[in-house]
Amino acid sequence: MNTPFIAQEIKGIISAGSKGPAAMPIVVAVPKELAPGEQRVATVPDVVQKLTKSGYEVRIEHDAGTSAYYPDDLFTAAGAKITSSRAELLDGARIVLRVQPPTVTDVDQLAEGTIVIGFMNPTNNLDAIARMRDRKITAFALEFVPRITRAQSMDALSSQATAGGYVAAIMGADNCPRFLPMLTTAAGTIRPATVLILGAGVAGLMAIATAKRLGAIVEAYDVRRAAGEQVRSLGAKFLELEINAEGQGGYARELTPEERAKEQQMVSAAVARADIVITTAAIPGRKAPLLITKETVAMMRPGAVIVDLAAESGGNCELTQAGKTVKEYGVLLIGLQNLPARVPFHSSQMYAKNLQSFLALLVDNDGVLVKEFTDEILAASLLVHAGEVRHGPTRDLLTGGKP
Ligand code: NAD
Repeated sequence: MNTPFIAQEIKGIISAGSKGPAAMPIVVAVPKELAPGEQRVATVPDVVQKLTKSGYEVRIEHDAGTSAYYPDDLFTAAGAKITSSRAELLDGARIVLRVQPPTVTDVDQLAEGTIVIGFMNPTNNLDAIARMRDRKITAFALEFVPRITRAQSMDALSSQATAGGYVAAIMGADNCPRFLPMLTTAAGTIRPATVLILGAGVAGLMAIATAKRLGAIVEAYDVRRAAGEQVRSLGAKFLELEINAEGQGGYARELTPEERAKEQQMVSAAVARADIVITTAAIPGRKAPLLITKETVAMMRPGAVIVDLAAESGGNCELTQAGKTVKEYGVLLIGLQNLPARVPFHSSQMYAKNLQSFLALLVDNDGVLVKEFTDEILAASLLVHAGEVRHGPTRDLLTGGKP
């Protein structure tokens, strides 16, 4: 276990006087991601080069970037130090950059006062959050970075949803027994495939763009009317329903039972005529809406494919099995999780850029860690700090709503 950072703390506010690049470099540590199937890494050599130039000491755990095709020697050339053990990586590390949330074991390896930045997936990670609270770790959850213009470069949800949408379209095409483009050949004319995208947020728009590039006829649906314009600008058809379910902050609100029945009817007809369906519909903090019932799946053509990007939060299709690919009624249902990890080179590159921008908020122009997290972006994404869970809904989950 490492030495606490208590000496660097003043009145419970982190890192006052923690001298940055000018005097004692801030040590940024990047562990190897150990979650099953995770291929990404939280930083890449290009970003390391910029961080070391600004005065940080960057340490990378041996092999951390290998599965994303960033070998240790590229990190060394960029100015990072490769460490052979977790203990060596974390000794004196002030900031830890991660992709996946830390486990309880990961938290126990950190010194008090360490700042951890990454996805925290609070609902499914309460034990580790409680441990971070008790061990006075500071954690920033990238999923809570507000979607304001200034935070765009730190929006890891968007960068990773872009990767997920791309992979979903490619996976759909790869598993489809048909060509996607129209072909006129000496052996006859091939009609283009129809791809339907349900949920036209960041992932959905990327899936639309990718399926269009592959030559398919693309249709899309979203409960937010504003999405229609973006869908049409990509050359796809937007399915219109007399509902506007745009809620707060640009996210979707829950539909009423009547709205849901109407939506169901229209969506079912579109699903039944599609060769590939990619579903991305989500409502933050809630179970994913059910858009495709098993009756609708039974109406689809044999050989049709559904890629359910919402599998992790319950699935948009009734027959999806999270983490699995199954066949029902001759339809292939892909519920594989963590699709961004399937393009680890570029999803890591984008994620690393998000973290680089986020770090710039934590350190002032003199290379000193900021004393208070009053910046709107830092305040919104601060999950745990100084022995307290700062994010209200997560605190309620931990305490059962009791103060
Ligand atoms: P998300 O992952 O929360 O949801 C995916 C999509 O599913 C959304 O477009 C949502 O409207 C849709 N959806 C929800 N319920 C549905 C239903 N029953 N049927 C069909 N579709 C349904 O979304 P996201 O990709 O994170 O984007 C959410 C919003 O944030 C969008 O408006 C997006 O444009 C906006 N955004 C803004 C910024 C920014 O300004 N910096 C960055 C990224 C996203």
